[in-house]
Amino acid sequence: MDFKFTDEQKMLRETVRKFSEKEIAPLVEEMDKEEKFIEDLWEKAKPMGFLGMGIQPEYGGMLTDYLSFGLMGEELGRVDAGVATVYGAHGLLCANNIARNATEDQKKRYLPALAAGETRGCMGLTEPGAGSDAVSLKTTARKEGSEYILNGTKTFISNAPIADIALIYAQGPEGLCTFIVEKNFPGYSVGKKLSKMGLRSSPTGEIIMEDCRVPEENLVGGVEGQGLKQMFGGLDVERFMWSCLAIGIAQAAFEAALKYTKEREQFGQPIFNFQMIQDKLATMLVELEAARLLTYKGMTCWDEGNYQEARMLAAQSKLYACEMAVRVTGEAVHIHGGYGYMKEYPVERYMRDAKVFPIGAGTSEVQKLIIAHYLR
Ligand SMILES: Cc1cc2nc3c(=O)[nH]c(=O)nc-3n(C[C@H](O)[C@H](O)[C@H](O)COP(=O)(O)OP(=O)(O)OC[C@H]3O[C@@H](n4cnc5c(N)ncnc54)[C@H](O)[C@@H]3O)c2cc1C
Repeated sequence: MDFKFTDEQKMLRETVRKFSEKEIAPLVEEMDKEEKFIEDLWEKAKPMGFLGMGIQPEYGGMLTDYLSFGLMGEELGRVDAGVATVYGAHGLLCANNIARNATEDQKKRYLPALAAGETRGCMGLTEPGAGSDAVSLKTTARKEGSEYILNGTKTFISNAPIADIALIYAQGPEGLCTFIVEKNFPGYSVGKKLSKMGLRSSPTGEIIMEDCRVPEENLVGGVEGQGLKQMFGGLDVERFMWSCLAIGIAQAAFEAALKYTKEREQFGQPIFNFQMIQDKLATMLVELEAARLLTYKGMTCWDEGNYQEARMLAAQSKLYACEMAVRVTGEAVHIHGGYGYMKEYPVERYMRDAKVFPIGAGTSEVQKLIIAHYLR
């Protein structure tokens, strides 16, 4: 398999890197400290096309291939994985799901505004009682005339506090269904914003639906019982994307650690000279590159339409890359010694941010169950 990037992929990577360093980096500390997303970063992402990366060009988006989307996630994650999550929950979890599964009418109604960033999206699958066992979700959708009436609560939803549109999974009369729910539909409300240990620039919250009235035209795909298929297709892509963000954080942590080892002196020499430090750096780098290769290979399989292999690789890369990010960021803190534990260096944020990656989009244990399932 050939991992040479196309000229377009190289250019996109360069563009996202410049944008992240110029526009996002100066705001990272403030967003982390105050636990908020700075709206200006939404406005600045609009003309760059980042918000439409999961949408086909005929609906105003920039979707060419998923590897390009992943490279964007990696570069954003290298500077602020929380901002990457804001763009990703909108562009992938919501918009890309509509782009892959909706009817032509639904695509025309929703995608152009999502691609332009005029409306903002999120995706609500997880519930207080249904996380790893997502299919046991309790939100219901009953049919009443030309409407569905939704009842239930979603939690841990990225972008819930700032979204105009939520893609909601619910148990319908004929099985699991997905609905496009607008924030002004009667019975829809956003619960409390949740406070987190990391990814603090990404607003997370609850969605509450109490007899929420959704027109039947908003049943994704137009046929009941398609939710499971739509959910699993989305989760595979989400796992690759989550891996890319984790790789981005680990890359930042590795760069910070390497730089520090050449500046910090102990025993009359840079700590880089100590073999036990070199051992750490070598292991970090190899793990980072291994995670990259696994993830790029999986995304390439997905882009080539080799979905069976891609699904297995999605679970493998999610498991390895996300655990790797926790290990690499932890080592980066350790290499910084006491300074690593202080807020003045970014590595403590990387470590806090990385911790969510083996949890969200299916925990490491769930990825192992999926891998074992494919081994049957
Ligand atoms: C910051 C953040 C953002 C998120 N964004 C979204 C979002 O936008 N939309 C959305 O729908 N969800 C979102 N989630 C939810 C996320 O997908 C879930 O948290 C995740 O799937 C785990 O579910 P849970 O938290 O209920 O944990 P649980 O399922 O309760 O798991 C608890 C522990 O038990 C383990 N466990 C569970 N089952 C098994 C098993 N069979 N074998 C072995 N171990 C097991 C788990 O691995 C875990 O360690 C987000 C979560 C976070 C933290």
